[in-house]
Amino acid sequence: MKALFLDRDGIINRDYGYVSTIEEFAFTEDIFEFLTLFADQGYTLFIVTNQSGIGRGYYSEDDFTILTQWMLTRLEEEGISITEVYYCPHAPEANCNCRKPSIGMITQALETYPIDLASSWMIGDKESDIKLGTNAKIANTVFIGKSPHLNASFSFVSISEAKIYFESNKEKIHG
Ligand SMILES: [Mg+2]
Ligand SMILES: [Zn+2]
Repeated sequence: MKALFLDRDGIINRDYGYVSTIEEFAFTEDIFEFLTLFADQGYTLFIVTNQSGIGRGYYSEDDFTILTQWMLTRLEEEGISITEVYYCPHAPEANCNCRKPSIGMITQALETYPIDLASSWMIGDKESDIKLGTNAKIANTVFIGKSPHLNASFSFVSISEAKIYFESNKEKIHG
């Protein structure tokens, strides 16, 4: 099984900082098309997200679950199925093994799904996402950000730009 691991804030939705309600959840431009592109190439989609807002007491685990259910329903309406949402609820001080760039969430996914990391991808907008990819030996990494990330396989300024690129270079994700 080849997997596309997705960061949430800044990738699926715009990152306004500690997004925890449906009202402040805005899908990024072209994210549906981007996800469909990978799904059509046979990738199983997973979200791996740091949600330290829970550990910091900014919002509850229930708030996160409610928002997640709403998000998954909206994605289903667009024909997109996310197989699993893994999240780290801990504050950094907890020194857990699931907060990215630690690989706990990937380890968890590997316990349940026969994922081939050598043909999988990690996409995120932070250093910790690319580090997670490297630490967990996920073969391909995509960085979304204003300036290119030196350790990422690909960098784009936006999901829209990534979508345009992979749309016309499908062989890159065909593996
Ligand atoms: Mg992010
Ligand atoms: Zn954690």
